[in-house]
Amino acid sequence: MIKEISEIRDEALQKIAQADDAQTLKEIKSNYLGRKGRLTQILKGVGSLSPEDKPIVGKLANEVKIAIDNVLKNAEKNILEKKDIITHGIDITLPGRRLSAGHVHPITRISREISRIFSRLGFQVEEGPEVELDFYNFEALNIPKEHPARDMQDTFYISDNIVLRTHTSPIQIRTMEKQKPPLKIIAPGKTYRCDSDVTHTPMFHQVEGLMVDKDITFGDLKGILTLFIHQMFYPEVKLRFRPSFFPFTEPSAEVDMACVMCKGKGCRVCSNTGWLEILGCGLVDPEVFKAVDYDPEEYTGFAFGMGIERIAMLKYGIDDLRLFYDNDIRFLSQF
Ligand SMILES: [Zn+2]
Repeated sequence: MIKEISEIRDEALQKIAQADDAQTLKEIKSNYLGRKGRLTQILKGVGSLSPEDKPIVGKLANEVKIAIDNVLKNAEKNILEKKDIITHGIDITLPGRRLSAGHVHPITRISREISRIFSRLGFQVEEGPEVELDFYNFEALNIPKEHPARDMQDTFYISDNIVLRTHTSPIQIRTMEKQKPPLKIIAPGKTYRCDSDVTHTPMFHQVEGLMVDKDITFGDLKGILTLFIHQMFYPEVKLRFRPSFFPFTEPSAEVDMACVMCKGKGCRVCSNTGWLEILGCGLVDPEVFKAVDYDPEEYTGFAFGMGIERIAMLKYGIDDLRLFYDNDIRFLSQF
């Protein structure tokens, strides 16, 4: 009898393992555990066994009954889950869970966009060192020692002769030393000044532009910059060139653009003037050409410089410069 119970157990478990629908499981349950089931019959017969066999057989039969019952319940659960997926299906149109990818910083983006626009106009992109000799940062740009223009820039001095560049203009000098005209370059990069408030950070970005050839006039400068600003912001935005002073250009101008916020009507951003200052420019001062051995009688050229942060703030409508460097993901992920 003990052998028979073991056989029933093995047989039942094997059948359950092979079953793949609820109906088959129901039949197995009825065949073994049902009222006329094989195990039920054995349990019924336990009463007529000898007093020695009764507890042994009874215990084993009960254990097998519980085991089969448990395995059956598990199998039923699995089949129900499978059925649920088949009837309701897995919704393959549900979007997957995205991992958020990093992306380019807004300053890098604007810098690349500026480079792209000028590249299309035939300008080469140049670079230069951020730790610069006084000669390239000031001297060669017509800003000798004791020149009042040095006070316009709060310079980080590393030694008497070495500075953190205060503008990208030294790249003009370095390029002109290496190459003979004609040349058309832009030079984006980091610049440094001891200054920190809502509109200044100690490190910021500029783009410098330079074009040198025979017969370059202020008209060329106006044409190129107008085209650039129209592409950077929107076509037909009004510009004005205002006379200004820089030691390395003569004549010099500052360029204003009709306010992007109020379209020139006057608002808080433009201090009700309707204009926003966006860059400085001018024709290269003959003194600068002399420093790099260009003949100012033969060649003329123009140069311009602008702050990349300034362009980004106007383009994206950002009012605090420091946001660019706080590394707050909520700010950065908007671009
Ligand atoms: Zn405005």
